[in-house]
Amino acid sequence: MDVDTQLEGPPRVPKPHDFLWFPDGNVVLATDTYLFKVHKSLLAVHSSVFRDMFELPNVGHADPMPGQGGAGLALETYEGVPMVTMVGDKGEDVAHLLRAVFEPNYYHRDDDNTPLEVIVALLLLSTKYDFNAVRKNIILHLSRQYPMNLEEYSALDSDTTSMFGKLRNDCHFTLLAAALTADVDVLLPGLLLACSDFSTDYIFRQTESMTRDALRILIGGRDSLDVDVNQYIASLPQKLQQFGSACPNGRSCFSTAYFNDLQGAIPMQFKAFTGAEMVEKHLSSVCEECCSYMVKVIDGERKELWEELPSYFELPGWAILQANLKAIIES
Ligand SMILES: [Zn+2]
Repeated sequence: MDVDTQLEGPPRVPKPHDFLWFPDGNVVLATDTYLFKVHKSLLAVHSSVFRDMFELPNVGHADPMPGQGGAGLALETYEGVPMVTMVGDKGEDVAHLLRAVFEPNYYHRDDDNTPLEVIVALLLLSTKYDFNAVRKNIILHLSRQYPMNLEEYSALDSDTTSMFGKLRNDCHFTLLAAALTADVDVLLPGLLLACSDFSTDYIFRQTESMTRDALRILIGGRDSLDVDVNQYIASLPQKLQQFGSACPNGRSCFSTAYFNDLQGAIPMQFKAFTGAEMVEKHLSSVCEECCSYMVKVIDGERKELWEELPSYFELPGWAILQANLKAIIES
């Protein structure tokens, strides 16, 4: 007898949900913990999966034929009302989804205090059942936190600030797993980059539920990006020589300038690799104008790396991902 069997009590009987039980509802959705009595017409407006299911003969009508449910959906009746069993979905998660559909103030796509479990439930279930408006809102919301352009990425809050009721740092892996399951490619570069900013040991421990291929892409992309960032940093002394006597003040800044303690800058991750950081901490013996010039040069390299970012993680380029996001917004 294994531990699970020993701990298993009598089978739990799902009970009607406190709010999501409309007496005049005409379909019951059953999960492991809750029953929801709602209206077929409203579900059908929001979800193509339910719309298609209710259009099938014998489905969602009185006296349904057993064994004719759609994928993952078993059909019975509950007190004379057709009942759809949502196989594999947690009651709490379905409650989040239905509340987002039935209560206009339950979820706002601008509210970064929305709990992480609500965000994840909405993303996964809106995808599974094609609740298009919910899915669109949640993807737009997440795309602000995991943006596609460098300016927005650079303006993000620090990883130790709060997001979705947790520290930002504690959201990345959960959201990456959800985005992979929901196949939302537009979020993946930002999420994979955010998840790259951890030790290999931590990454392995946080990705146990992910496929080996997803882990390979994350580690591989992280390593390649780190190599490119750090090779560029190592090449900075050589680059200085190329500028010769370019000082706008007529001084010999670049012939006397030097980068100090570059070994202290390596290994550097993409997030920390900015012109301002490199020049402020490591460049000596140049005037203010030459400093600004070097900041621009280094930030130019940062931008070039960003332009290629999706390819590090085996994803299509930004233009395709931007078009995919536009298609989601316009769907
Ligand atoms: Zn100068």
